[in-house]
Amino acid sequence: MAVLPIHVLGASVLRQETTPVTKVTPELLKLADDMFDTMHAASGVGLAAPQVGRTERLAVVEVEGERHVLFNPEIVLEEGSIKWEEGCLSIPEIYGDVMRAARVIVRATGRDGKLFDVEGRDLLGVCLQHEIDHLHGKLFIDHLSFLKKRKAMALWEDEKDKYPDLLRILTPDSVNEQGDESERL
Ligand code: ZN
Repeated sequence: MAVLPIHVLGASVLRQETTPVTKVTPELLKLADDMFDTMHAASGVGLAAPQVGRTERLAVVEVEGERHVLFNPEIVLEEGSIKWEEGCLSIPEIYGDVMRAARVIVRATGRDGKLFDVEGRDLLGVCLQHEIDHLHGKLFIDHLSFLKKRKAMALWEDEKDKYPDLLRILTPDSVNEQGDESERL
């Protein structure tokens, strides 16, 4: 069990394409466990490997007690559209409305090394799309209009000073401070 530092906006690892996982190793399962610990410490519902400085194609999500470890997740079906206010553990305090597919089916390799499908709507669907974006170097702010993105970036200019070396170190205090308002992914 370990809570890892989270890399925040500006860190180059967040913009990198990840590398597909060819074998689910004990080391990667430990990484997935540490990612859950980190996500819980930050009161998040999803976390992707680049957010903890790793380049493996791995994300974890936990929505309403439903937990998934997803290696190489891909959207195999998407339909409808939904507007959702998103935040990101790597861009604390910045939120924005993003248009997403209303329903997705994602295929991934699980902890046991076997392929599985997960269907997501609403928060789970949004979370899956947000984390898969992370695995391709994309952030929710990239979905905002030019003006909204510029506004978000201006807010971030002030926020980012709180994160020396573009790292967010989580402590029990930082959890309390955040409360439990909107979802962070
Ligand atoms: Zn995120």
